[in-house]
Amino acid sequence: MLQRGDKVKFKDNIFDARVAIIGSGFGGLGAAIRLKQAGVEDFIIFERACDVGGTWRDNTYPGCACDVESHLYSFSFAPNPVWTRSFSTQPEIWSYLKRCAHDFGVLPHIRFQHEVRESIWDEAAQRWRIETSQGNYTASVLVMASGALSTPSTPGLPGLESFQGKAFHSAHWDHDYDLTGRRVAVVGTGASAIQFVPKIQTKVAQLHLFQRTPPWIIPRHDRALSEFEHRLFRRFPSAQRAARASIYLFRELFLLPFRHLWLAGQVERLARRHLERSVPDAELRAKLSPDYSIGCKRILISNDYLPSLTRPNVEVVTEGIAEVRGHSIVDSSGVERAVDAIILGTGFQVTDPPLAKHTRGREGRTLSEVWRGSPQAHLGTTVAGFPNLFILLGPNTGLGHNSVVYMIEAQIEHLLAAINYMHRQGASAIEPRPEAQAAFVAEVRRRMEGTVWIAGRCVSWYLDSTGRNSTLWPDFSWRFRRRVARLNPVEYALSFPPDAKQPADSFQRAAASHERHLAHAAHDN
Ligand SMILES: Cc1cc2nc3c(=O)[nH]c(=O)nc-3n(C[C@H](O)[C@H](O)[C@H](O)COP(=O)(O)OP(=O)(O)OC[C@H]3O[C@@H](n4cnc5c(N)ncnc54)[C@H](O)[C@@H]3O)c2cc1C
Repeated sequence: MLQRGDKVKFKDNIFDARVAIIGSGFGGLGAAIRLKQAGVEDFIIFERACDVGGTWRDNTYPGCACDVESHLYSFSFAPNPVWTRSFSTQPEIWSYLKRCAHDFGVLPHIRFQHEVRESIWDEAAQRWRIETSQGNYTASVLVMASGALSTPSTPGLPGLESFQGKAFHSAHWDHDYDLTGRRVAVVGTGASAIQFVPKIQTKVAQLHLFQRTPPWIIPRHDRALSEFEHRLFRRFPSAQRAARASIYLFRELFLLPFRHLWLAGQVERLARRHLERSVPDAELRAKLSPDYSIGCKRILISNDYLPSLTRPNVEVVTEGIAEVRGHSIVDSSGVERAVDAIILGTGFQVTDPPLAKHTRGREGRTLSEVWRGSPQAHLGTTVAGFPNLFILLGPNTGLGHNSVVYMIEAQIEHLLAAINYMHRQGASAIEPRPEAQAAFVAEVRRRMEGTVWIAGRCVSWYLDSTGRNSTLWPDFSWRFRRRVARLNPVEYALSFPPDAKQPADSFQRAAASHERHLAHAAHDN
C-alpha cells in the first residue's frame, strides 16, 4: 500500500490515460459513454469484478428489482423501448447495462479484475498515480464511480465467525446453497430484505426475521408492459421520451411529503392502510408498525413482503441479537433459535466509502482524513484539495424520491464541462475553491432544514457519524441538475504547470458535444 510521501515505483505495465474511471456501474459506464460521445477516447475504466453492472451485477438475490420505473431508471441517451415490466428486475437491468457497454464501444476500455487500492495526487506531475491490484497507472482526471451502495455492511454480531452453518450477505447471494426445508435467520428489514423474504419464505421450513426497525411500506404498482407499448416506443421514440418525462415529473412530486410534514401524514395513512390490509393479526401488526415519521428512512414499496410475514413458518423477532453460536442465534431476552443459515440483509457502507481512505489529495491527506466522518463536496462532485477528482454519487447526491441515474447524468455533464474549461484555459488541473465548497455545503444544510430527514428523532443510514445528512440531495432533482450540469468558473481554481502541453483536440470536441447534450437534455427532462 502506498503511504504519504512514498515515491511510486512503476512496474513495466505502467499506463497513462487522460481520464481514469473507477467502477463500471451506471456511473462509470455513463461517464465512459459520454466521454466517448464527446470524442474523448483516452480513458480507462478499472473494475474490480469480472463484468460490468455494479449494483445490478452483484445483487442477484431472489426478487431483486428496482423501485423506480424502468423508463426513468435508465440513461436518457440510451432508451430501451422493450422493458418487460414497469419496474425492472435485476437480470433485465444488468442485461441493459451490459448492452450499453457493448453497443457504445466501452468494453475495450475496461480493465476487469483491477481493484483500485490507492490513488495519490502528484502535484509535480499534475496527475493521479493509481495503484491497482494489477499494476500502477497514471491519469490526469480521476472519476470515482465506485458506488454508494457497493460495499456490503456486515454487522459485528458477537460470535458470527463461530457459526457452523451457512452465512452470507444478500449482496453475495450463494445460489449453490439450497434453502429448501432449512431453518433460516434473516437479519435486517431494509430494501433488499423486503424483496427476498417473500421469495424464500415459500421454500424454507422456518424463517426467523430479526428486525431492528420496521420500515414504512407502500404498495408497488408494477405491471407487465404490453406488446403495443413496445411497438409504440420502438416506432416513436418521442412517445417513450414523453413517458419518461411524465414519470420523472410525477416522481418529483414525491419530494413534497419529505419537505412538508403535513403531507407526510397523508402518505403515512396510505402506508398504515396497506399494513392493516396485509396483516390482520393485531399483535404482529404492532411489531411491524414504525414509530418514526414516514420518509425519515427510505420508504419501501412491496405488495408481498407484509403478507409473507403472516405465514405460519415466519416469526418476526424484535429483540436484538445477543450472540451467534455454532448452530443457533440467542436473542437479547435469552431465547435460543436453532438455524441452518443466516442471511444478512444489512445494507451497505454508505457514509464511509472504503475508497475515501485510499484517495490522497494535494497535501497527502485522504478524503477520510479531510471529511472526518462527514463527507462534503462541492456540488456533491468535486473536493477542495483534490484536483481533477470527480465523485459520482458523492455526498448529498442521493435521492429519496427519484432516480439517481438522473443525478449521475447531471454530474457527468459537470465532468465534461470541467474538462472543457480546463482545455479552454490551457490548465492542467481544476479544483473547487474552499469557499465555494463551504457555500454549497451551507446551501444544502439550509435546504435540508424542516425536512423529514432531520426532523424529530429521525435516525437513519442517511446520517453520518456527526449526525449530518450527507447522503441526500434535499430538493427537487431538476434544481440539482440546473446547478451542476454547467460549471461556474468563479467557483473553481486552475493550476498551470510550467511544462503544460496543449491538450489533445478531443477536448475541443468534448466542449462542443457537451453544449449540444445540454441543449437536448433541456428538452428531454
Ligand atoms: C439492491 C439495490 C437496489 C437499488 N434500487 C435502486 C432504485 O430502485 N432506485 C435508485 O435510484 N437506486 C437504487 N439503488 C442504488 C444503486 O446503487 C444506484 O441506482 C446505481 O446503480 C449506482 O451506480 P454506481 O455506478 O454509482 O455504483 P455501483 O452500481 O455500485 O457500481 C460501482 C462499481 O464500482 C466497482 N468498484 C468499487 N470499488 C472499486 C475499486 N476499489 N476498484 C475497482 N472497482 C471498484 C464495483 O465493483 C462496481 O462495479 C439500488 C441499490 C441496490 C444495492
